[in-house]
Amino acid sequence: MSRIRNRDTKPELIVRSLLHRMGYRFRLHRKDLPGKPDIVLPKYRTVIFVHGCFWHRHKGCRFAYTPKSRIEFWNDKFATNCRRDASVMASLAERGWNTVIIWECQVSNASYLARVLPWVLRRLS
Ligand SMILES: [Zn+2]
Repeated sequence: MSRIRNRDTKPELIVRSLLHRMGYRFRLHRKDLPGKPDIVLPKYRTVIFVHGCFWHRHKGCRFAYTPKSRIEFWNDKFATNCRRDASVMASLAERGWNTVIIWECQVSNASYLARVLPWVLRRLS
């Protein structure tokens, strides 16, 4: 298994263009931050991860199903991913960064994102 998160995946591009249209300024893939966040909003001291529902186990989401074969393999894999996500968030918090997770299934709902993002970012600022 190689990379679990591809650079410049489509959902991420959608989030970026939405943020841009809403007037937010951000940076991409800052390697000096834990987890190399997809999108970094320095002004809000906030990072945004666009997470795939399957790999990152979006709770209660229909895309976060478990394959029917090699169940143990998948459960191990998912547990590792979730542990990594949790430790990345903890390290970011230690450095004073807020983390916002956007799930892939939410990206397709543009009106939801357009409503929720400003609300989240206002609360953080
Ligand atoms: Zn989902």
